Amino acid sequence: MKRAQAFGRSLAIAQDKLVEIPKPIELLSESEIQRKQIISKIMTFTLEYLTYEFLKNEFEWLLPVIFSKSTDPLWPDPGASIEKRVEVEIYGKTVRATQSMIVHKMVACSLVQPKLFVFSPNVRIEKIERANSGLHVYEFTQLDFEIRNASSREVRNLVEKMISGLIKSVKNNLSFELSFLGRNHSLAIPETPFRVYDREELENKYGRNWETQITFEITNPIWITNVPREFYDFEDFEKGTWDNYDLLLPKYGEVLSGARREWEYPKLVRKMERDNIKQENFTLLLNLAKQGKLKPSAGAGIGIERLVSWIAGARHVGETQMFPKIPGLVYDL
Ligand code: AMP
Ligand code: MG
Repeated sequence: MKRAQAFGRSLAIAQDKLVEIPKPIELLSESEIQRKQIISKIMTFTLEYLTYEFLKNEFEWLLPVIFSKSTDPLWPDPGASIEKRVEVEIYGKTVRATQSMIVHKMVACSLVQPKLFVFSPNVRIEKIERANSGLHVYEFTQLDFEIRNASSREVRNLVEKMISGLIKSVKNNLSFELSFLGRNHSLAIPETPFRVYDREELENKYGRNWETQITFEITNPIWITNVPREFYDFEDFEKGTWDNYDLLLPKYGEVLSGARREWEYPKLVRKMERDNIKQENFTLLLNLAKQGKLKPSAGAGIGIERLVSWIAGARHVGETQMFPKIPGLVYDL
C-alpha cells in the first residue's frame, strides 16, 4: 500500500484514499483470483455489449496498429504526463509505438470507412508517480471510433445511449458479480441526457482543481466541453473555443475524450507551428489535408480499463488488467 500523492490533473480516485497497487498474476491469492475472475467477466460483457452496439449502428471494424511513423503527439494536453516516447528503428526507418490511433482514424475515416471503430492499443509511458493515481497504466486499450461528417452532439448522443444501455444490461445480467464487488446498489443506471459543462465555467467556479472537485460532486456522468489541447480537435479561432468533449464518471473521472476534428490544411499547419509539433511526423496527414482528401469527422476514444474500473468499483485501474502495467513497475508478463 502506498499513499496517494498530489500531481497532475486527473487525481480523482486517489483523493483521501490509499491506493492499492495491483499484484502480478502469479502472486494472487485464491480470493484475489476470484476477484480477478469477476472483473474479467465484467470486462468480457462490456466488450461484447459495446462491439455489438457499434456493429448494430453499421460501424466498420478496424484492426489495431502498433508501430507507425505518425502517432498521437499527446501534446499540448493538460492531462498528459509522458515520461518517455517509445521509438524504434525498423528497416532503416523510425517508427513510434501507438500512443493513440487518432491519425489512423482520421485517415481511414476520410478515405475508406465513414464509420469505424477499433480496439486500439495505447502505449503511454506515464510518470512513475501516476502509479498512485489509481487511474493510470502504461499500456491500455481505447475503444476508438470516428464518424465522417458527424457533429459533436451526434457523438455524445451515441455515447450516452451506449453507456446507459451498458449499465442497464450489466445490472440485469451480472447481479451476482456486482454484489460480490459491493457495487450492485452504488452503481446506478445513468440518466440521459448527461449534463454538459463548459470547462471555462468550471474553472471560474472551482479554480485549478475543477476536475477533481466536480468528479467527487457528481452522481451521474457529465460532459466537459471546450478543452484546449492537441491540434486535431476543432478550434474556432474567432470565438476562441474548442468543439471537443470529455466524459467524466462519478468518483472515477475522465473515461472518454473526443472532438469534432480539424481537416483544413492551413489550420492544421498553423496549430502545429503554434504548439511546436514537428510537421515531419505528420507528413501523410498534412499531404491528405493539402489535397482536400481529409474529411470533416467527429469521434471519441473510450478508455476500456477505466470504464470497467468504474463498473466494478475497482481500487486501481490495473485491477481490470490480467497483466497490470503499473507506471514504474515492470512485471514478468
Ligand atoms: P486521451 O487520448 O488522453 O484523452 O485518452 C483517452 C482515454 O483513454 C481517456 O479518457 C482514458 O479513459 C483513457 N486513458 C488515458 N490515459 C490512460 C492511462 N494512462 N491509463 C488508463 N487509461 C487511460
Ligand atoms: Mg483525455
